[in-house]
Amino acid sequence: MKWLMRQCPNCGRYTFKETCPVCGTPTKVPHPPRFSPEDKYVKYRIMAKYLQNGNE
Ligand SMILES: [Zn+2]
Repeated sequence: MKWLMRQCPNCGRYTFKETCPVCGTPTKVPHPPRFSPEDKYVKYRIMAKYLQNGNE
């Protein structure tokens, strides 16, 4: 299941919208990406995928 929930950094409200419905603050995805920044192979994989998409 794809994580779509976002959270307002100002009031903490959870929403699916990119802007908080309560205070109008741009929301953020509260959960960081699943990969570890220490996993350099993941970084290369993402880079490869990015380059592949750029060539299409
Ligand atoms: Zn808010």
